[in-house]
Amino acid sequence: MKKNNRIVIVGGGSAGWMAAAALSNAFGATQQITLIESEAIGTVGVGEATIPAVKSFNKLLGIDEAEFLKTTQGTFKLGIQFENWGAQGDVYMHPFGLVGKDSWMANFQHFWLKAKRMGVAKSYFDYSLNIRTAKANKCMIDPNSGLDYAYHFDAGLYAAYLRKYSEARGVKRIEGFIESVQTRDDGFIESVKLQAGDIIAGELFIDCSGFRALLIEHTLHTGFEDWSHWLPCDRALAVQTESVGEPIPYTRSIAHSAGWQWRIPLQHRVGNGLVYCSRYSSDEDAKKLLLENVEGEVRTEPRLIKFRTGRALKQWNKNCIAIGLSSGFLEPLESTSLHLIQTGIVRLIRMFPGDAINQTEIDEYNRQSRYEYERIRDFIILHYHVTQRSDSAFWNYCRSMSIPETLARKIAVYKNTTSVFKEQDELFHEGSWQQVMLGQGITPTAYHPVVDKLSDEELVKLMNSIENEHNQYLARFPSHQQFINHYCKAIAPG
Ligand SMILES: Cc1cc2nc3c(=O)[nH]c(=O)nc-3n(C[C@H](O)[C@H](O)[C@H](O)COP(=O)(O)OP(=O)(O)OC[C@H]3O[C@@H](n4cnc5c(N)ncnc54)[C@H](O)[C@@H]3O)c2cc1C
Repeated sequence: MKKNNRIVIVGGGSAGWMAAAALSNAFGATQQITLIESEAIGTVGVGEATIPAVKSFNKLLGIDEAEFLKTTQGTFKLGIQFENWGAQGDVYMHPFGLVGKDSWMANFQHFWLKAKRMGVAKSYFDYSLNIRTAKANKCMIDPNSGLDYAYHFDAGLYAAYLRKYSEARGVKRIEGFIESVQTRDDGFIESVKLQAGDIIAGELFIDCSGFRALLIEHTLHTGFEDWSHWLPCDRALAVQTESVGEPIPYTRSIAHSAGWQWRIPLQHRVGNGLVYCSRYSSDEDAKKLLLENVEGEVRTEPRLIKFRTGRALKQWNKNCIAIGLSSGFLEPLESTSLHLIQTGIVRLIRMFPGDAINQTEIDEYNRQSRYEYERIRDFIILHYHVTQRSDSAFWNYCRSMSIPETLARKIAVYKNTTSVFKEQDELFHEGSWQQVMLGQGITPTAYHPVVDKLSDEELVKLMNSIENEHNQYLARFPSHQQFINHYCKAIAPG
């Protein structure tokens, strides 16, 4: 690989345009970037909730946050509220940011547990500023607000925004349906041929063709590791509704008898969907359930999306890198797909081939991708497995299924010690694991001995000080809607 290589991106969904934006930003005119997309096929059209790391992707692209939110009709996301997961009627929130105050020796839950036993603590979740702010439907983003956040945005507007960004940086877009892919004798991809007859050749191909996996699977036969025995949901129905009231600053995830429903509030509408398992629910029943449980007037016909959970055995094979749904799919439950796209692109830029494509680099890329996928996989399985629900065959399956050894170990350590130990470079921090385990009904047993170093009075003082500090923040935060209005006000209509 030298200067002026031809990079061909196949697909113009969020993955394709995120790749085009980041690569054009990173390499400028030193690489020729072409993106091919087919309007006839369209995009998956979902993927509207993110996690805080998305901010670093925007920063890397030099995107102005207020302009971004205005253009994509975005809202702020402070966490995800899980309803009916541990048991029917249960509600907890997995917030971004810290809960309480950690010590390097023991995380906050240990201090909380002793205070709780003394009868001087509220619910663990009441010590999260993010949760208290979300529940009050407030928001405030500045370096001193104490909040961590991500966004909800309109997927179509997001791709359009990145397209404009990329085209301004020299990315060439071709509209057309790819009908065949040509390979060289050594199996590397040489070119793709459009239905209209054009042949687009390149040195590096980025497969962003979505679930079709046109290059990585259909051409290179890379293979797929199926995880549907752990993540059995295989279908989703997506529908948009009109907003009723002001947007809330969090995603809702509501468990039903054979899956769960999302609600993502945007400035101009609400994104809704039902993720379910076709072994336990028919499409008709799922559609009925979804439509019975949305608020606001329905704007679109419910759209069926079929998927299989798992990952491509290699994310990089020969001169093809799969980014987005072509590289694998876990579950939208913790909004990790767009994040995996982001890390896949950043990893590619950091390992971008020099004079030639190097197999050791490919292997390292694949090793890191696999590790990342597996750690997120465990975290998502946790939500399904740690439940007391026994009201349906679906929940009976999830509760009693065997789980990966890596996850079983984490749960056992937590049950015995109330601690979680994050593995190196793992996406979800100890607090996230603890919040979901506690929120879904694992009762913590023992607290860390260092907690006893604090006298009872000191412990009470610590708990009160956290609460008082949060009260002060909350008193100055405006409503979420007021903050959006204020923040996006300075931006001229796009
Ligand atoms: C139900 C559901 C909910 C989700 N929710 C979230 C969420 O909340 N948060 C999150 O982070 N992620 C979520 N995701 C994942 C997220 O939607 C995707 O990761 C993201 O949209 C990227 O998709 P993509 O670009 O890989 O594929 P797509 O959007 O499907 O794009 C594929 C592109 O390839 C093109 N293409 C395919 N074949 C050809 C061909 N032969 N010729 C020419 N062009 C072709 C298509 O035209 C299209 O442009 C969700 C996914 C699902 C299924």
